[in-house]
Amino acid sequence: MAFTLPDLPYAKNALGFISENTLNFHHDKHFKAYVDTANKFAAGTEFEGKSLEEIIKKAKGPLFNNAAQAWNHGFYFDGISPKAVAVPAKLKAALEKAFGSVEKFTDEFAKSAAGNFGSGWTWLVEDKDGSLKIVNTSNAGNPLTDGLKPLLTVDVWEHAYYLDYQNRRPDYLKDFVAHINWDFVARNLG
Ligand code: MN
Repeated sequence: MAFTLPDLPYAKNALGFISENTLNFHHDKHFKAYVDTANKFAAGTEFEGKSLEEIIKKAKGPLFNNAAQAWNHGFYFDGISPKAVAVPAKLKAALEKAFGSVEKFTDEFAKSAAGNFGSGWTWLVEDKDGSLKIVNTSNAGNPLTDGLKPLLTVDVWEHAYYLDYQNRRPDYLKDFVAHINWDFVARNLG
């Protein structure tokens, strides 16, 4: 079963801080290309028919890069909400335990993402012992390869924000953390 491009969970003009123009390129062109290219590199190999997660954990090179980018983009878009979402109690308690408060978490997350050099992703993850951490990855990197459970990610490749924010990555991140879909994060925490 080939991978397919998922629809965005909101209208392209719904977010406010990310424009329809950006989403036309980011979802319809970049994300689609990663899905299509992952299918191309998986076809006829031991990975054909495997899940993106299985491929991410085992593959290297172009198949890893495209499968991870396909997974990362779906996860990123699902983590954004057009409307403010309250932080569910269990997640709130976990964030307070790890970072002191929800606001301290979003500050630290945005700061880590602003300092993630070059193209990559910044993640909130759950470690094997249940603790929450912020990690940066470069290029297509995904924390699943380190045995970490992703809860939230932000895309800091320039294509994610350059049409709307140009070089102002910190402004994009300030707006991103105000649009986190906390229900999605809480579901990932389990
Ligand atoms: Mn992207």
